[in-house]
Amino acid sequence: MHFDVVVVGGGAGGLELAAQLGRHLGKNLGGEKVLLIDRFPYHIWKPTLHEVAAGTLDAHQEGLSYTVLARRNHFSFSMGDMCALDSARKTLTLAAMKDGQGNEIVPQRTVSYKHLVLAMGSGSNSFGTPGIENAYLLENAVDAQHFHSDWLSAAVRASFSAERSLSVAIVGAGATGVELSAELLEAHAELLQSLGSNQRFRLDITLVEGGERILGGLPERISEQATVALRRKGVKVLLGTRVQELRKSELLTSAGEIRADMIVWAAGIKAADSNARLGLEVNRINQFVVDDHLRTSATDIYAMGDCAACPWEEGKLVPARAQAAHQQATYLSGVFSALLNEREASAPFVYKDFGSLVSLGDNKGVGNLMGGLAGKNFFVEGLVAKWMYMSLHLMHHRAILGVGKTGLLALARLLQQRVSGRMKLH
Ligand SMILES: Cc1cc2nc3c(=O)[nH]c(=O)nc-3n(C[C@H](O)[C@H](O)[C@H](O)COP(=O)(O)OP(=O)(O)OC[C@H]3O[C@@H](n4cnc5c(N)ncnc54)[C@H](O)[C@@H]3O)c2cc1C
Repeated sequence: MHFDVVVVGGGAGGLELAAQLGRHLGKNLGGEKVLLIDRFPYHIWKPTLHEVAAGTLDAHQEGLSYTVLARRNHFSFSMGDMCALDSARKTLTLAAMKDGQGNEIVPQRTVSYKHLVLAMGSGSNSFGTPGIENAYLLENAVDAQHFHSDWLSAAVRASFSAERSLSVAIVGAGATGVELSAELLEAHAELLQSLGSNQRFRLDITLVEGGERILGGLPERISEQATVALRRKGVKVLLGTRVQELRKSELLTSAGEIRADMIVWAAGIKAADSNARLGLEVNRINQFVVDDHLRTSATDIYAMGDCAACPWEEGKLVPARAQAAHQQATYLSGVFSALLNEREASAPFVYKDFGSLVSLGDNKGVGNLMGGLAGKNFFVEGLVAKWMYMSLHLMHHRAILGVGKTGLLALARLLQQRVSGRMKLH
C-alpha cells in the first residue's frame, strides 16, 4: 500500500486533517492519496469521554464509523495499530489484528508513504505511582465504557446496600477530573429520578489535586469559580494532596488515607512509551519533538496534537488541547495541499490561544475567551459558557461531517434524548 499522505491517529486532530485533505485532494481520485490509520473502528471526540463514562452520552450513538467518514470525505481508512516505523525506507508497520479469542484476522501489514503525520494523542501520567492498576483511566472510549458499566453496577449495589452510599475518588483536577466530577453528579441526579424512593443512595465525590489549585493550566479566576461551584455541589476538593499509593478501594495520600469504592486516575499527560522506540526524537513524556513547522527529527515525518512537543511563546510548548490539534490540522492541510501541488509552504505554525471552557454540568460552565471581540479578553460563566462549550463539539463535527449533517445529527440526538432520557442505563 502506498499513499501520498498517511495520518496515524484519527482523533481530534488527525481525523480533521484527513477529512480536509481528502476533500481537497482525494475527490477525483477515489481516496487514493490520503490514508488514515486508527486502532479503533470508530471515532469519539475525546473531550466527551467524561460524558460517556458517566452515561450522559451514549458511545454507540456518538461514535462515528471511520469507513463512513472516509467515503464521505474521500480518504482511505485502515484499521490497525502502528507498531514500527522505518523512516529511511519511508514505511510503517501495522500489527496483526486479532479477534477476542486471539485468532489472527489480518496479518501484519506495511504501508509506504511520501509524507507521514503522527497524531496518536496521549494518555494520563501515573508518575510511577504504585498500585495504578487499581484505578480507572479515561484515555479512550473503551476505558470510558468500562468505567460506565462498573459505575452502573456500583450504583445498583449502593442502592441496595445498608449504607446507601457510593464513594468515588478522582485523582487530578485538570479539565478531565473537574468535568468528570460534575458529570457524575448530574448522572447521579438522573439516576435518582429513575430509581424508586427506597433505592436512593448518596454519592460522595472527592477530587484529589497535588497542586494548590484546580485547573492549574487555566487562569486563576476560572479555578476559583470552578472550585466554588464544585464545593457548592458537594464535591470534596482536596488541594496540595499528593497520592503516594493506590490500593483496592483506598488511596494513601500526603493528607492521610482516603477510602473510595471507585478510583479514577485523571492526572498529568504522557504519550505512549512505544513512541520512544520509533527512532524519532522525543521529550521526557514521549512527545515527538517538532519544530515550528511541525516537522519531527526525520525527513517528511510530522507530528501534531497531544503527541507533539511543539514550541510556543516564552519557551512554553503548545498545550495539549483539542483547539491546538484543530489548528494544527488546518495548518498541515495547507502545507500538504501546497507540497502535493509542488508549491513551497514556508510559513511556520503559530498557535492562537482562544481561551478555555470547562463544563460544570447542570447547564453551567466557566471559561475565558481570549482576544475575542475587539481583541479583548472575556470571562464567561453559566449557561453562556456551557453553550459555547457545546458549540466546540459541533464545530468538530462540522469539520468532518459538514454543516447540514452536523445539524441533522444534533437534532437526531435531541429527539433520541426526548424519547429515551438523557442517561444511558444499560
Ligand atoms: C475527559 C477529557 C476532557 C477533555 N476536555 C477538553 C476540553 O474541554 N478542551 C480541550 O481543548 N481539550 C480537552 N481535552 C483534551 C483533548 O481531548 C485532547 O487534547 C485532544 O483530543 C488531542 O487530540 P489528538 O488528535 O492529538 O489526539 P486524540 O484525540 O487523543 O486522538 C488520538 C488517536 O490516535 C489513535 N492511536 C493512538 N495510538 C495509535 C497507534 N499506535 N496506531 C493507530 N492509532 C493510534 C487513537 O485511537 C485516537 O483515535 C479533554 C480530554 C479528556 C480525556
